[in-house]
Amino acid sequence: MTAKSMEQLVALAKRRGFIFQSNEIYGGLQGVYDYGPLGVELKNNLKSIWWSSMIYERDDIEGLDASILTHSDVLRYSGHEETFTDPLIDCRSCKYRCRADQLVDGKCPNCGSDDLTEPRPFNLMFKTSVGPIAGDDNFVYLRPETAQQIFTNFKNILDSSSRSLPFGIAQVGKAFRNEITPRNFIFRVREFEQMELEYFVHPAKDQDYFNEWVQTRLKWWIDIGISEQNLELYEVPENDLSHYSKSTTDIMYKFPHGTEELEGIANRTDFDLGSHTKNQKDYSLSATVLSNDKSNSKLAINDPESKEWVIPYVIEPSAGVDRGVLALLNEAYTEERLENDDTRIVLKFNPRLAPIKVAVIPLKKNNSEIVKLAHKIKDSIQSLRIGRIVVENTGNIGKSYRKHDEIGTPICITVDFDSLENEDVTIRDRDTMEQIRQPISKLSEFVKHQIK
Ligand code: ATP
Repeated sequence: MTAKSMEQLVALAKRRGFIFQSNEIYGGLQGVYDYGPLGVELKNNLKSIWWSSMIYERDDIEGLDASILTHSDVLRYSGHEETFTDPLIDCRSCKYRCRADQLVDGKCPNCGSDDLTEPRPFNLMFKTSVGPIAGDDNFVYLRPETAQQIFTNFKNILDSSSRSLPFGIAQVGKAFRNEITPRNFIFRVREFEQMELEYFVHPAKDQDYFNEWVQTRLKWWIDIGISEQNLELYEVPENDLSHYSKSTTDIMYKFPHGTEELEGIANRTDFDLGSHTKNQKDYSLSATVLSNDKSNSKLAINDPESKEWVIPYVIEPSAGVDRGVLALLNEAYTEERLENDDTRIVLKFNPRLAPIKVAVIPLKKNNSEIVKLAHKIKDSIQSLRIGRIVVENTGNIGKSYRKHDEIGTPICITVDFDSLENEDVTIRDRDTMEQIRQPISKLSEFVKHQIK
């Protein structure tokens, strides 16, 4: 059974150190969260599985880690200054502010009044200034998507990696949006992370690659542990498409608060590379772009067949890391009724995602021989570099098992008096709770096999 409510996930996330409200000791900052000791491991594991699937397990994608501070011209020519807005409405009765699509039957979702202002566009980008004096001519934006710096680096990467079409550039990193109403825990926040791929293809082949990426990305989420019945594809209707998109399919997930977007796959056409290219009239662009006299670069590629310069089309799978973490927590969360009528909470993560891979538990807290052996075992498993391994020296074996069930540790290893004599240990499986005895000499092999 998946989580009954968001409250259960929020409570577990705080109690066990996954996710905290940011700036909490000063009353909190709305729409911003901090990832604690376990949250940072889970998030890093998610990002590294994505990175590996994009960069290491394929041969057609390069990585990038570009700046967050973004030149205002980049976001001007990308169309974000003009169109990256949400329609904002104020309720005159209770002063509640919301997006136009959040009205309930045309009334304020807070007090039910229909005394509302007309919707007005509200730009979601955060601005800051560079240098000691703030002014109109030295402001920059915090990027609202990681994608734009992939486009501005297109030529750098093309020239330094000698790629030909199709090829991609992938990036993981922070993005910022001044959401009007951040809500639903880490689902809609003002500071978040994206895992974005811009895949450059020949203009004639765009829709084939688009369809292929929708399927690839859907399968990826299933492979890392999201159940198929909680996922669905949503084809965004033409009048809801972003300004750059020819077609978009969203991968929707059944979150505790409702079915909403986890990842979007968009056909961005030649809009972005075309927008940032000098002398745009030299190319047969399909997109309508702002005339650009600021860029000093042509973001095109020489087509070996026609020998002509073409501006590639871009297929973009863009996933939210935070929404991924929320979906994974929701999927993993399980409550089980035990034979003695107790309830056990278990996070049944795919072992690759689990924040802690193995907990080594000395049966007696104060027995120095047992504790020493536990640390020796920890060090030897840690050297496999499969993630975080801990020694859990509370002296209370039942409590330790409960804790590691709740944070999703796949394997617990208990070191007892017999371990000192016989050089073996008890291994407990998180999901089945089965316990087996294993020689210490075989532990590394056993753990490596389980945490693939
Ligand atoms: P939504 O319609 O939910 O606002 P979007 O269509 O604006 O999302 P995109 O611009 O396609 O989102 O961004 C790509 C991905 O980035 C989304 O699928 C989502 O996972 C993530 N994302 C976007 N906005 C937020 C946010 N405010 N908080 C957390 N994640 C976000």
